[in-house]
Amino acid sequence: MKNTAIYPGSFDPVTYGHLDIIERALKVFNKVIVAIAHNSEKATLFSVAERVELLKKATKGIKGVEVDDFQGLVVDYVKRKKLRIVIRGLRMISDFEYEFQMALTNRKLSKDVETIFMMPSESYSYLSSKLIKEAASLGANLKGFVPGFVEKAIKAKLR
Ligand code: ADP
Repeated sequence: MKNTAIYPGSFDPVTYGHLDIIERALKVFNKVIVAIAHNSEKATLFSVAERVELLKKATKGIKGVEVDDFQGLVVDYVKRKKLRIVIRGLRMISDFEYEFQMALTNRKLSKDVETIFMMPSESYSYLSSKLIKEAASLGANLKGFVPGFVEKAIKAKLR
């Protein structure tokens, strides 16, 4: 299982930015487990089950992807899976401070877990689930940001 990485996050919902990172991670790892965190502190648009379903659909054609969800700390989940590598996406300098803090906190919590950062294509470097939801609530067309079925799901929620 050495060649498997975990890509944790909220994925509320999955965007082309997330898919870009998954594809890049698969150039380095044989398998990527995309793991949706149950995070009671964050108000999400989609339930965990809905996010799992959207991610499964979005990654259906990509070989080597597994979709899962987990409760509690990322490092504990990684250990339960007997893995070591966490993938995170870095979009802009604004992501850096939070990601840096989290990676170092995780390192303190478990010295066996390493975080690897990957940068998306510049065409996705401004894309975030939050922005997409805001744009959708104002009636924006989400083509180019998320797959068509994700756009439909967002619009159905906001109706
Ligand atoms: P979280 O709530 O954990 O930040 P997200 O689902 O928003 O969860 O993101 C999961 C991971 O994917 C994070 O590392 C985030 O920086 C990264 N990510 C999100 N959107 C993009 C994007 N457009 N390009 C690259 N990485 C991204």
